[in-house]
Amino acid sequence: MLQLKGKPVAESIYSQIKAKLGAMLNAGMRSPHLAVILVGEDPASKVYVAHKQKACETLGFKSSFIKLSETTSDAELAQKIDELNTNDDIDGILLQLPLPSHLDAKKMSDLILPSKDADSLTATSLGLLMSGRQVVSSCTPAGIIEILKYYKLSVANKNVLVIGRSLIVGLPLFHLLTQENATVTVAHSKTENLKELVKNFDFVFVAVGKPHFLKATDFKKDTVVIDVGIHRVLSGLIGDVDPTGAETHLKALSPVPGGVGPMTIAMLMKNTYSLTEKKHH
Ligand code: NAP
Repeated sequence: MLQLKGKPVAESIYSQIKAKLGAMLNAGMRSPHLAVILVGEDPASKVYVAHKQKACETLGFKSSFIKLSETTSDAELAQKIDELNTNDDIDGILLQLPLPSHLDAKKMSDLILPSKDADSLTATSLGLLMSGRQVVSSCTPAGIIEILKYYKLSVANKNVLVIGRSLIVGLPLFHLLTQENATVTVAHSKTENLKELVKNFDFVFVAVGKPHFLKATDFKKDTVVIDVGIHRVLSGLIGDVDPTGAETHLKALSPVPGGVGPMTIAMLMKNTYSLTEKKHH
């Protein structure tokens, strides 16, 4: 079985960005500048934000970290987003999710200027994706497409299943796979007989958010499985798919950790670069 490791794919994305960044700086432009907003104290979000800042530093991007308290009101968050929208020195804005429960993530994300929407969260960005005119797309699904291309796994003309329909993973992935000429089915919590359904597909993308929700042997033999889930348990990090038996049963599987995870930050950097480049053209 092929292990779809994200690290080499992310490295190739970083190399491409570094080459383009060199040309951008030589042309007299400044480095891309990403602003990351974190509201509250979610421990996993703190780790993700630190990784995003580190990636900016490594590439030579500027980054600003805006830390807001757990009790931030929607008016305060809206004001902060507005400041970043109107600050010409900022090229990309990332609002780290999840937000504390009193804040409406869709409403808040929609306040980000689409031209600075580094994780493609706004309704405008999603509409552009739906009509095939996106400048950037949501980082995790875009990273999954890069993994497929790197490992030369074409979804064109294939029957593929996406499990999950969130605005950040499942639905944008549906559109990106459709753009790659796959025939895509989307399953969700109201889908019946999912265990039977999964056996009909050549590729299955699992973004359910439940630890070991499916077993590697639940899929038909030689399926390519992309496990998007990530969960911290006592033994470490695990995905939505239990990999036991995968080695002899599946054609390929993205490991957790080390599969889709490294791609999300690489694509955030790529998106920030693309938004900066677009601003100058
Ligand atoms: P989410 O917003 O909670 O969405 C989960 C989706 O799964 C929903 O569409 C839900 O259906 C569906 N679902 C829930 N239970 C189901 C069931 N029993 N059968 C079929 N479908 C079911 O989660 P998300 O933000 O998309 O994230 C999904 C997973 O990916 C999480 O583990 C998250 O941590 C992980 N993730 C990883 C990365 C990374 O960088 N590796 C990035 C983002 C997310 P309904 O719509 O009907 O509720």
